Amino acid sequence: MIGWQIAERGKLTKINKIEQLEGIDSVKVKITKTLITEDDVASIMDEKPPLLIPGRMAIGQITEIPYESEYLKKGTKVGISAVRNCGKCNNCLRGKPEKCSDMFVAGKNVDGFLKDFAVLSTSDVFPFPKNTDENDVLYLEYVSLALSVIDRLKIEKGQHVAIIGASALGSAIAQLVIYYQGVPILIDDDDDNLMLAKKSGIYYTIKSGAKAEKEISSITGGRMPDKVVFVTGSDISPEMAFKISAPFGNVAFAGFSEVRARSAFNVALDKQLTCNFVTCGYGNAETAINLLANKAIDFTNYYVPLTKMDKVEQNIQKMCDAYEKKEKVADLLIDMLG
Ligand SMILES: [Zn+2]
Repeated sequence: MIGWQIAERGKLTKINKIEQLEGIDSVKVKITKTLITEDDVASIMDEKPPLLIPGRMAIGQITEIPYESEYLKKGTKVGISAVRNCGKCNNCLRGKPEKCSDMFVAGKNVDGFLKDFAVLSTSDVFPFPKNTDENDVLYLEYVSLALSVIDRLKIEKGQHVAIIGASALGSAIAQLVIYYQGVPILIDDDDDNLMLAKKSGIYYTIKSGAKAEKEISSITGGRMPDKVVFVTGSDISPEMAFKISAPFGNVAFAGFSEVRARSAFNVALDKQLTCNFVTCGYGNAETAINLLANKAIDFTNYYVPLTKMDKVEQNIQKMCDAYEKKEKVADLLIDMLG
């Protein structure tokens, strides 16, 4: 297996090691495309980075499988779940894997998919219907996480949901709110992000700033939203989530990266809000694949050009430089076939 591993802060090194099947429940997958996002770059640029292979989002094709089934066989194209429960903690042992206290997350605390082959458990690979655009399947982890957010906030029909942060993940959450018949209000400080969200079918998009609260108030008939989602990679202050929430509202902080800006919790205290934290979409991959197959969530507006594998180090270096300068970090899609 050829891959790239974090050697030190901001630096990747090419590695070569042998990967073999680990038993009858494992499969060997040829990784065909890997999507490197700002979350991966945040890991690479961490003060104490994890010395592992980055890359949370990838798709591939099965090349070896001990027992073929109708569902999984050699040549099957698959989406890959980046999250696995530990199997050893109290909650795992009590049959509550979704509440695992030690989740393995690819590219965060176990090897990710910036490599040409991966050995995975059969329960972590998901075939997708033929008519599905494989470029949408790359975003599987976002849809799984968005499903966890919807579930945690118990979003109801007709309800306004404010979402702060119009990244591809924020857009996925907003599109899923529409799917469940809620009304998303998407907020961001970047005009381009808001434009992409609008193209993706989000009706209410609002630029953060002095007038934002007033606009949200007018959309919600003065009541303000009961449900607010703050996407953790956003540059906006988390305090905004508390400010725009209705009293006794529910706020969810959702995403794979850490919250960047510091925030005072006093507004949340005054309004007696309920705060939720959602950092993975464990158990939702199958539902997520179906949503993508039906184009209930569409990432077409977020696709980025396919780049060559031999430019990996160079291209990720550019992302790290942009991250360091606090500039916008564009996603990088790598053709792992060459
Ligand atoms: Zn566990």
